[in-house]
Amino acid sequence: MKGKLFVVSGPSGVGKNTLLNTVIDRSENVRYSVSATSRPIRPGEVDGKSYYFVSRERFEALIADDALLEYAEYVGNYYGTPLAPIREAIANGIDVVMDVEVVGALKIKKRLPEEAVLVFVTAPSFDIIRKRLVHRGDVAPGLMEERLERARWECSQAEHYDYIVINDDLQKASEEICAIMLAEKCKTMERIHLIKEELTCSTPQ
Ligand code: 5GP
Repeated sequence: MKGKLFVVSGPSGVGKNTLLNTVIDRSENVRYSVSATSRPIRPGEVDGKSYYFVSRERFEALIADDALLEYAEYVGNYYGTPLAPIREAIANGIDVVMDVEVVGALKIKKRLPEEAVLVFVTAPSFDIIRKRLVHRGDVAPGLMEERLERARWECSQAEHYDYIVINDDLQKASEEICAIMLAEKCKTMERIHLIKEELTCSTPQ
């Protein structure tokens, strides 16, 4: 069975990082896709784990080399998904969880429609998103309005996703994502060969 890509989007401040770490801890045979970005590293982040932090020039070379499954600009910086690890995971039946903003997520769905499952994570209200973003304290004050505007637009795109998860309670939201992952693995097209290979039968009259 080929691996699936669980592409998770949602506005900054919705608690995606903690949520995805919880989901990965609870799952087997699942890998996190480490993105490349041209944004500066933040305190507490680890190069090669949080992101691959690269210059704009290096990022543009990755684009030119066709080394990215998708990329997008987000509030002045590039973000993109390295293609080689994704190809390898799909071929080896390993599922991948990815944190990708909306433009990139829709590109992945178009490029890999059978493998990609889009999950939109949001908070119970936009006011909560604003408060969480302000309290997080890692967004420069000059960028806050731009991030909030982007968050508003991202929420308006949720209708294009396969699933929506409201991250009100971490435990419940992570259970919902695990349930989505399990259900996707049980889909008919994933399993039909298990049944068909064993049967030769005639249609009832
Ligand atoms: P942050 O700077 O807060 O870490 O991330 C900003 C946004 O970039 C988030 O919405 C996150 O989902 C998105 N992002 C992270 N990695 C990728 C990626 O590989 N591709 C795209 N298109 N967006 C990404």
